Amino acid sequence: MSDTSKPNKEEILSRLFTLITNHLTAQNSGQFLKYQNPSDLDKKLELDLPEGQSDWDQIFSYVEKYLTYTVKTNHIGFSNRMWSGANLTSIIGEMISAISNTCASTYESAPVSILIEKYMIKQMLELVGFQKGEGQMTTGSSNANMIAMLAARNEVNKTIKTNGLFVQPQLYAFVSQDAHYSMDKAANIIGIGTDHLIKVKVTSNGEMDLRDLEISIQTVKEFGGIPFFVSATAGTTLRGAFDDINGLLKLRDNYGFWLHTDGAWGGSAILSEDLRNHYLKDIERVDSFTWDFHKMLGTAMICNVLLFNQKAGTLNQLCSAGNTSYIFRDEEDNQGESFNLGSFSLQCGRRVDSLKWFLDWKFKGRKGLAKKVERFHQLCQKAESIITATPELEMLVPRNAFNVCFRYKVPNHLISKNEFNLKLRTDLYHSGLSLIGFGYIKSELCLRLLITNPKTDEESLHTLFKTIVEAGNKLLVAA
Ligand SMILES: *Cc1c(COP(=O)(O)O)cnc(C)c1O
Repeated sequence: MSDTSKPNKEEILSRLFTLITNHLTAQNSGQFLKYQNPSDLDKKLELDLPEGQSDWDQIFSYVEKYLTYTVKTNHIGFSNRMWSGANLTSIIGEMISAISNTCASTYESAPVSILIEKYMIKQMLELVGFQKGEGQMTTGSSNANMIAMLAARNEVNKTIKTNGLFVQPQLYAFVSQDAHYSMDKAANIIGIGTDHLIKVKVTSNGEMDLRDLEISIQTVKEFGGIPFFVSATAGTTLRGAFDDINGLLKLRDNYGFWLHTDGAWGGSAILSEDLRNHYLKDIERVDSFTWDFHKMLGTAMICNVLLFNQKAGTLNQLCSAGNTSYIFRDEEDNQGESFNLGSFSLQCGRRVDSLKWFLDWKFKGRKGLAKKVERFHQLCQKAESIITATPELEMLVPRNAFNVCFRYKVPNHLISKNEFNLKLRTDLYHSGLSLIGFGYIKSELCLRLLITNPKTDEESLHTLFKTIVEAGNKLLVAA
């Protein structure tokens, strides 16, 4: 750099783009992580260097360290989470959002983003089949689940928004035991309390047991409580089970609760006609539905959509509060339509998440994204068949859809199966070979394989299981 004290913006940006290009092209080589324990990593990062240096070399040195020790989520070895490295189109959208730095709350500050978000919500309502509906992008399915529960709360009793929950009949929400923990958080936040979130038993394949649900609802009613909200999970976090929407709709007809569907993970099946028919039948009749584009579909984080059915106008009524005259003004020729999405939202500042979503959608189209999801689904089938054909491995439960729950078979007389498989997973992680999720099904530990990386193919699956078997064999000798 010609003058290190005051380089111009162009020099800084070209230095930055070289780093970015190198990082993105090296994403799938070597190991997915140079693992360091927290105290070693802390030393290497030198977070304590003096501040206020206005030194670009120092800044770039931190950026380089960040990239060196970051988890390469694009890497084929990374199958721990429900997402992996982002689509290039959405990376472009994300970067443009960062560079243009605006707030997607008002038409005044973000005209293009607002129109894109409205356009995409309309596309999604059509896709799901919601009539007279509306929707919004939120900060993720946790938040979307909470907003859905809040909407149900205010619908069951229109005075709660202004009067609060004081001296009201007791409200009860219902989810399956395997539902996401964000539901517990939602019960806390919206004021019904976590004890008022009833966890319904699951059947042997991990779906909500509708008989148990009905009994719980009746018990609540006998004691004067109001069953106001049921959330079906479309793709449970650990086992990937889909709750029976048709059965839940019948119960809704009887008991009148709000039926939400949390499709954060498995909701992407909606893009494929075949998978939709199989896993999400009757979804167009539920009251609300959310799913994450930042999971299976590969949009950069965060990218979520929450949709309401037959309830246009609810979001504004639900989320607006306080004096907002300083910020929200309708455009002159708006023809009764609001372009200030901030008033429909619980946030004031809203990051522009719409651009990356739109660019992904335009680039791949519904068909292209459907193909992606169908391919992941086929690869999960393949993974299951490899496991069943490998003597050292076993499925802990049969696969429902996208989650493959398996473990290394440990001879009975040896140490506990759980301990062994947890150690196996930790060894693979620390050696930078592979990061696989895990969880407990009825206190038995399973390794949970999720496929979200477009680079995964049959060959890489064989390699992955070979790596796991080899590491397991080594561990067995040492045990
Ligand atoms: C991931 C997940 C969530 C949480 O979604 P975020 O976007 O991470 O907040 C909620 N429900 C289910 C079923 C999930 O898999």
